[in-house]
Amino acid sequence: MSTGEILRKAAQEQTALGQKTARYLEKGELVPDKVMVNLVAERLQDKDCSKGFILDGFPRTLAQADGLEAMMRERSLGLDCVLCFRVPPGVIIQRLAGRRTCRRCGTLFHVVFNPPRRRDICDRCDGELYQREDDREATVAARLRVYETQTAPLIEYYRKKGLVKEIDGDGSVEEIRNRVLGALEEISG
Ligand code: AMP
Repeated sequence: MSTGEILRKAAQEQTALGQKTARYLEKGELVPDKVMVNLVAERLQDKDCSKGFILDGFPRTLAQADGLEAMMRERSLGLDCVLCFRVPPGVIIQRLAGRRTCRRCGTLFHVVFNPPRRRDICDRCDGELYQREDDREATVAARLRVYETQTAPLIEYYRKKGLVKEIDGDGSVEEIRNRVLGALEEISG
């Protein structure tokens, strides 16, 4: 589950909550912890999470990590591992600046590293590709600052619990996919 994806959908709704969410996303700021913890707790009730799940984009703060721990305890579950992708800042900026997302099915492309066959059209569903508002330069800088101050401390938090697996996130999609699969095999094997 990707919390960013859930929030982007919520932000499209013409409700007060949807509009409030959209303002956080546009600025690259974090949605309040309480909202996030409730949202994830609700999503974990869905049937597709019953045999296990991967959390993408959550937790992003120590308060969210505490919330997650409480949720897991309630279900008598434990986290298997935390993947930490190491990517040089220059590469992150290059990736975000060129990222294009399908409005209909959410498939990701990159104008240079993974271009669609037809410009601005999704290979998978013919949907329109767009650039996320928060992938624009000024917002990316704000998101990186938020990461450094609020999210990076989680690495130490989970390292102390012996859960962190570092992944070299610099490389092709295929290379990184293989590194992730290798790390996951280590824990399942
Ligand atoms: P992402 O798709 O993971 O890059 O997330 C996009 C945006 O959604 C972030 O910049 C935040 O505004 C918001 N967001 C996603 N996950 C969280 C979270 N765990 N806590 C707070 N805000 C979040």
